[in-house]
Amino acid sequence: MNLPNLRIGNGYDVHRLVEGRKLILGGVEVPHSLGLDGHSDADALVHALCDALLGALGAGDIGAYFPDTDPQWKGISSLLLLKEVMRMCREKGFELANADTIMVAQKPKLAPHLPQMIKNMAATMNVESERINIKATTTEKLGFAGREEGIAAYAVALLIKNV
Ligand code: MG
Repeated sequence: MNLPNLRIGNGYDVHRLVEGRKLILGGVEVPHSLGLDGHSDADALVHALCDALLGALGAGDIGAYFPDTDPQWKGISSLLLLKEVMRMCREKGFELANADTIMVAQKPKLAPHLPQMIKNMAATMNVESERINIKATTTEKLGFAGREEGIAAYAVALLIKNV
């Protein structure tokens, strides 16, 4: 049977919310009193998507390629990591079918920023915007996200092999 060559991957990431850092999600600087802490810009959404793509590729996780001990990645835009991960996908002959993502944050309201996040990620990956979906939810004040200690992101990505 001739089945389409599909690969699915999932990704998950969390960063801590701290004072004195910008809040960057999907490459958008979201106005907020707290920002995500991390070695890069700590863009949890983009990190989760990178891990979903690498998972689909069977190629490990972003920690393996962009370790947080490497000064080269300090403070950089995570969109650059996403660009590199997408390059790796294409190098192996895969194209993005679609990606679906969720951000989990009590505050701030992320909904107004979703269209720009989609634009940024689609442009970085060189895919149509309709292939990327982003959802945002609170946790009804439960857990670390609900206590505003951090922001989590989940992603699934489906890759299809060009034949
Ligand atoms: Mg991360």
